[in-house]
Amino acid sequence: MTSRRHILPAGQGAAFVLKAQETATLRNPYGTQVVDTWALSLSDPLEYSAMEHTRSVNSNLFLERGMCVMSIQRRTMMTMTEDTTPGRHDTLLCPCNAAIYRELGCKGHHRSCTDNFHEAIAEHGISLLFTPASLNVFMNVPVADDGALDRLPPVSKPGDHVAFRAEMDLLLVLSACPQDVTPINGSDHTPRDIEVDIA
Ligand SMILES: [Zn+2]
Repeated sequence: MTSRRHILPAGQGAAFVLKAQETATLRNPYGTQVVDTWALSLSDPLEYSAMEHTRSVNSNLFLERGMCVMSIQRRTMMTMTEDTTPGRHDTLLCPCNAAIYRELGCKGHHRSCTDNFHEAIAEHGISLLFTPASLNVFMNVPVADDGALDRLPPVSKPGDHVAFRAEMDLLLVLSACPQDVTPINGSDHTPRDIEVDIA
């Protein structure tokens, strides 16, 4: 089977059509980059990936290998078929947006995963008036016994990858998170490229 290799540049977003049974592999060349991830049904973009149903069906706060990404209609959209990381992909925190960068003291425009999502779907002729919660691949948000969340650098190693198999025809939307104020994309606060293979 032939595969298509794409580079998702640091801080940028892109959307890829995945037919049912096609697989997208997200490779983290430096190990430090978070990828905010969404799926939209190709037949109805209002059927989007829903972290509340994903947590409910998997009975887990994290997405691990073998688990499914569910839609807002509670249908299976994707299965995580491969994962070379310790397997703690966050489902809890929101995609970054302009308000977060203002809270962090950034002046003027700062790229965000929310903007990347809307720009990427617009290139496929889709517009949504809201931003679904993202699956935050490679993002390390440990949950303490008292419920407290932390935001730590990824635990993935250079070259680690995850793979998703599409279970329906969908648009896979990815954002190489541009966060460079907090250490969520590594302790050196430097967003980096991600490699995407579609097969
Ligand atoms: Zn982000």
